Amino acid sequence: MVAVALAVVTAGTGGATAVHAGEQGVEGLALRDATASRVANIALPGSAARTAASWCGSVSQSDRTPNAIAGNPVRWVYALPSDGQDRLSSIGDVMQTDAEQIDAWWRAQDPTHVPRNDLAQFSCGLQLDIATVRTLESSAELSLLAGRFAAVFNALNAAGLRSPFAKYVVYFDSAVSDATVCGQGGSDSSGFGLAVVYTQACTGVSTAAVAAHELLHTLGAVPEGAPNECPDEDGGHTCDESSDLMYPSIDDAPLSTKVLDPGRNDYYGHSGAWADAQDSPWLVRLDDQMPFALSVSGPGSVGSDVPGLQCAQSCTTTWNAGTRLALTATPGPGAKLVRWGSACVGAAGCTLAVEPGARLSALFAPASFRLTVAVSGRGAVRSLKTGITCRPRCSATFPSYAPVKLTATATKGWRFRSWSGACRRSKRTCSVPMTKAASVRAVFVRA
Ligand SMILES: [Zn+2]
Repeated sequence: MVAVALAVVTAGTGGATAVHAGEQGVEGLALRDATASRVANIALPGSAARTAASWCGSVSQSDRTPNAIAGNPVRWVYALPSDGQDRLSSIGDVMQTDAEQIDAWWRAQDPTHVPRNDLAQFSCGLQLDIATVRTLESSAELSLLAGRFAAVFNALNAAGLRSPFAKYVVYFDSAVSDATVCGQGGSDSSGFGLAVVYTQACTGVSTAAVAAHELLHTLGAVPEGAPNECPDEDGGHTCDESSDLMYPSIDDAPLSTKVLDPGRNDYYGHSGAWADAQDSPWLVRLDDQMPFALSVSGPGSVGSDVPGLQCAQSCTTTWNAGTRLALTATPGPGAKLVRWGSACVGAAGCTLAVEPGARLSALFAPASFRLTVAVSGRGAVRSLKTGITCRPRCSATFPSYAPVKLTATATKGWRFRSWSGACRRSKRTCSVPMTKAASVRAVFVRA
């Protein structure tokens, strides 16, 4: 039995927030029951022998949108030291296989929930949307556990992979001298979370099991005060059942032999008042998905704070019921948001919850339109706001969707007869809605 090694890691330099800040600490998952002979006989992750599926996507540093499933994503990252050999062509297969294994295992444990892995559509189908990062440090500098998690965190941070809406599953591909800590994971209070799998540690141990374990840490498992929380420990594990995925150490049995909170009494699907990872927004609620219809008109697009919505035209996205979204309108060049409709009003911020029948519209328009006025006969046309005094012809631009009030005044000996164009009646005043460029003619006749 290998001694359980718990590593509490301080991440970040230069004012960066420590990743382990917040309720749940960063800790290591230690290798259990790995004998020297077993280690020698089992292939490294990434070798063909372990690869059941292959990843056929391509790397992208930025999140490809739209995400296949709207909502808080679990993003997958391949990381390597500054001098490491890029083995994504093989590790990518492991990551894809592991993601599929975790997905299948989770559904078997809980048919109503599954992690929302960030997938993108490739010619070969839906695959992990994988980003790659390199640490500043070399493989030699990261061979010891101390500082390794921080180095991975810093590499992600430098690459802009630090969204409070995302959990990052990172496969860190670097030689390690302390091969008995298989992974580390934790979250900060913003929501950002980091689940690291050390691909060259814990030979023979299922990387899918390690990834699932670390991912659960980022979802808040095991919360402080859970009945079977390990004593004399920094927290985050249960000690009642060694088959529990959140046991502090792991053997070389496959993920399928692990149980998600046996008895459902500590961290997942329990009835207690303490935190429950099953409620995490990073899980798709398979039994409670809800469509959200957005219609966009005019030059502009609408995006949401939670990843999954970026629409330049009308679109319908599907979310966990009750998901709260803050929508942002981005007008095209020279345009503005005129107003929201349905779930929001006005043209200021818009937040809503995806509830039954939830719908929203956004109306964009050029910031201003031209109004041209012509006069027949003798008289003048004036706008109430400054801009126009016409005799016999003039034009000016006005803010769009702000009605312009015109008044026709006849010269002595003449009288106003009627409007034509955007104004139609014979009253002396007329309101032009300015929902498009407009022209107006005022006709005066001899009195
Ligand atoms: Zn752990």
